[in-house]
Amino acid sequence: MRKRLIVSAASALSLFLAVPASASDFQPGAAGVGDSYYPTYGNGGYNVSHYDIRLKYQPATDELEGTTTILATATQDLSRFNLDFALNVAEVRVNGRPAAFTTSGEQELEVTPARPLAKGSQATVVVRYKGVPSTVKKYGFTAWLRTPDGAVAAGEPESAWWWFPSNDHPSDKATFDVSVLVPDGNQVISNGILTGTSSQAGWTRYSWRENKPQATYLATLAVGKFDVTTDTTPGGLPVYNAYSKDLGDNADAARASVERTGELVDWLSGYFGDYPFSSVGGYVPNVPTGFALETQTRVFYSPRQFSRGANTSVVVHELAHQWYGDSVSLSRWSDIWLNEGFARYSQFLWSEHENEGTAQELADYVYASHPADDAFWTVKPGDPGADNQFSGAVYDRGAVAIQALRNTVGDEAFFRILKGWPTERRYGNATIPEFQAYAEKVSGKKLGDLFTTWLFTAAKPATGPVAPGAAAAASLAPGAGRTDGQLPAEPKSWKKIQETNSLHDAGH
Ligand SMILES: [Zn+2]
Repeated sequence: MRKRLIVSAASALSLFLAVPASASDFQPGAAGVGDSYYPTYGNGGYNVSHYDIRLKYQPATDELEGTTTILATATQDLSRFNLDFALNVAEVRVNGRPAAFTTSGEQELEVTPARPLAKGSQATVVVRYKGVPSTVKKYGFTAWLRTPDGAVAAGEPESAWWWFPSNDHPSDKATFDVSVLVPDGNQVISNGILTGTSSQAGWTRYSWRENKPQATYLATLAVGKFDVTTDTTPGGLPVYNAYSKDLGDNADAARASVERTGELVDWLSGYFGDYPFSSVGGYVPNVPTGFALETQTRVFYSPRQFSRGANTSVVVHELAHQWYGDSVSLSRWSDIWLNEGFARYSQFLWSEHENEGTAQELADYVYASHPADDAFWTVKPGDPGADNQFSGAVYDRGAVAIQALRNTVGDEAFFRILKGWPTERRYGNATIPEFQAYAEKVSGKKLGDLFTTWLFTAAKPATGPVAPGAAAAASLAPGAGRTDGQLPAEPKSWKKIQETNSLHDAGH
């Protein structure tokens, strides 16, 4: 392991002198935020309110240099704190003073400020760095994707390490300014609103702003050559979409899908309430990956999502995340169902809207097509484990669980829950128990058994998500398995929905 410790004599001396008599109360912040799935992700001892990321990037060589300024508040008396980061750091300053730093583990940057930080105090942390992100492997991979004309940062649960230092956990959201200098003729895509561009001496600066809280894994960056379309939705929201100029045979299908973003986000607003952000759109860079990701306001799509023609279902999925995942974010990764169950269920609703199978038919199909001894049922959507965080069961069984909820509480209460939850918890964080309590409050029904059966039991539920009074119940009796006679017809939308399943295979 490579370790560096850079402490000048002067800063070591000032550190010593600045420590008050009560310094023993000042402790290092934890190296992880306490997530059981990813113990080293995020950090303890502070919260970030803003990232100002200022970069210079050369697409020809993948050389990136940058300065990130972090506004943080100490949540304990801090003698030291960590950031999550993978590139080479040249300098760290805390409140203007040079700070000592070293690296540890895979992605820990340990920062010792010249003066300890008292609980509740504000800190301005400046980190200067550079590197060639595509060559930096952590846990055996890089989330920095090279394209023929540039690069993309997109990945879940980790992608920030390769372009900005952060408290890398969705429980600590912040606003973002991302400003990137690229050679003239290249473009930069990121989250939120493009606030300006300026050119000088052969370089162009693109400045983006996301003014609503954003999880670090939902920050995205792309550099390359894009065709850009801009518009305003019928509901008045600015739309910004971008397509690599070299998408080849996938170009038209990508546009025929992503250009419907405005229509689809307005349609989803009918179910989930007002769209929470100030812009919307998607981008399709020429990456070799297969996944898409709900990067905030600006969804990342791999071209492969459109290799079999237009796919509005994946656009609906990623846009649904803007409410379920981006605006209301996870407090811990084990609650991934709050993101993926609802994003998948939105595809069920879209299928229903398109007359390609009702949500009930899709749920019945999922239930019937996996026999009781299928490993599918061993994954608990409510706590799938880090290795199964993005397994198909989290999505499909997760969506069936939502249909079961709908059948239990009735349509009227169900659609109030679907809209009320992201409205009440807007820009915040949440857990599954909190969602359950909310659904119980709205519906007036106890839902403990339902949640246990559908989310927290590693076995096929004895009965399917039976619609009240549905005759189909007969084919969903205990022990029903896959036989030709019992399997309901495959809903027309099913293949497109399944194509979404490689979405979160972040390539590692
Ligand atoms: Zn998703």
